[in-house]
Amino acid sequence: MKCSICHHPEREAIDKAILAGQSNRSIAAQYKVSQTAVQRHKDNHLPEHLATSKKAEQVTKADDLISDLQFLKEKALTFLAKAEQSEDMRSAAPLISAAVKVIETLAEVRGELNRQAVINVTMSPVWVETRTVILAALQPYPEAREAVVLALEDTCRR
Ligand SMILES: [Zn+2]
Repeated sequence: MKCSICHHPEREAIDKAILAGQSNRSIAAQYKVSQTAVQRHKDNHLPEHLATSKKAEQVTKADDLISDLQFLKEKALTFLAKAEQSEDMRSAAPLISAAVKVIETLAEVRGELNRQAVINVTMSPVWVETRTVILAALQPYPEAREAVVLALEDTCRR
């Protein structure tokens, strides 16, 4: 037997109403479904919908983070190459550690994604540390630093 709510054109609205604590009776009346269907959907299907949408959201966020990290990696490597050319070793040292951190974080994020684990990347200590190292390393390059700060702010707004 098909669930009349799963196949309802307004399933998302119904899910939201259930989550908002609206009674089965008022949901049933509003969306022209039976109260038993609401109850059954709530018990059997809603948890699965929630898990799926949460996972999709996390994957999207992680994808965004990966592209930002890739951007940072390119930047760190570009500036590292420049420092190397000018034999500016004092600038090169922090850039090397910044590049290493970014690469480590990328590996970690990708690894987490592959394991399909629940992650909260923007709050992870590794990421916070990476961000600090990168911004410190980019101190002598205001233009690059600004670009990085903007990219990071963009990530955090999402
Ligand atoms: Zn259902």
